[in-house]
Amino acid sequence: MFEGIEVQEQALLAPYTTLHIGGPAQYLAFPKNQDELLSLLQEANAHHLPIYLLGGGSNLLVNDDGVQGLVIYLAGDFAQVEISDSKDHIWVGTAFSFPKLTRLCLELGWEIALGWSGVPGLVGGALKMNAGTRLGEIGEVVCQVEAVTPAGKLILSHDQMGFAYRHTAFPKDAILCRAELYYPQANPQKKAELLAKASQLAKTRKATQPKQRSAGSMFKNPPGDYAGRLIEACGLKGTQIGGACISQVHANFIVNQGQATAKEMLALSEFAQKRVYDQFGIELEYEVRRWGF
Ligand SMILES: Cc1cc2nc3c(=O)[nH]c(=O)nc-3n(C[C@H](O)[C@H](O)[C@H](O)COP(=O)(O)OP(=O)(O)OC[C@H]3O[C@@H](n4cnc5c(N)ncnc54)[C@H](O)[C@@H]3O)c2cc1C
Repeated sequence: MFEGIEVQEQALLAPYTTLHIGGPAQYLAFPKNQDELLSLLQEANAHHLPIYLLGGGSNLLVNDDGVQGLVIYLAGDFAQVEISDSKDHIWVGTAFSFPKLTRLCLELGWEIALGWSGVPGLVGGALKMNAGTRLGEIGEVVCQVEAVTPAGKLILSHDQMGFAYRHTAFPKDAILCRAELYYPQANPQKKAELLAKASQLAKTRKATQPKQRSAGSMFKNPPGDYAGRLIEACGLKGTQIGGACISQVHANFIVNQGQATAKEMLALSEFAQKRVYDQFGIELEYEVRRWGF
């Protein structure tokens, strides 16, 4: 199976996630271009294997027993980037580092990139999650995305992607491959100013987010409120189950104190979700993607 493509069997996923939690993937494949990706998807489909796309693993909780099926980690051509002479267009592969893209955008004078400065992971995960902060989201600059599904290659326009707060409407089986970004106000002369602002934002992040391993915010903010405020108001900061702990620094971050299992992380997040519901009648929606549960 999967001839000519690098594939590992029973490969541990923990090292691919920022939480450092997660058992093995039945198959972990590293396609280098869209043709290899298409043939992988078609073969997985023919064998009825579930398909998972792994980006930087910074928004993932993978079960301790791992996942049955094919996990895909894009490599090769997917990590390329190109900039137009006018500096207002970028074509970027989805395996390109998102922090590196952010830095590049700031150097080109794309002020909007301050909105997602400090977000880890890869470009593909950022597109899928519409990564950002209240200062801006990546979806605002995405014109179109090339994607591959088992049925073939397709190009999606901005309006087909349904960008909203930590939400997109990509076809369920679409693997995002390459994005065209456009920011008409690009002004490379602002580089120094923007880098200084980004460094200030990084300091704020450092002071307001935990240092331990996490997958970022566990829950989305409900309309008009903050998941962290609600969890904190339930008195849950510092609550632990095994090695999982609700951060003392930011209650919407559930951290791995060293040896936490996925089951402990999930149990603690469900406990927080239930306490918030009991106290405020608000059902927190997961932001973190959970695999294999
Ligand atoms: C310390 C910390 C701080 C964070 N701060 C923020 C923040 O301020 N704002 C914010 O928005 N997020 C934040 N996050 C969450 C996370 O970094 C973002 O959601 C990030 O964009 C996820 O990218 P990733 O490559 O790691 O995706 P992954 O975690 O690997 O995957 C996330 C989802 O995207 C899918 N996916 C990934 N690549 C593709 C692709 N090519 N095609 C189709 N689907 C794909 C995966 O299947 C999965 O469903 C933070 C996380 C951490 C650990």
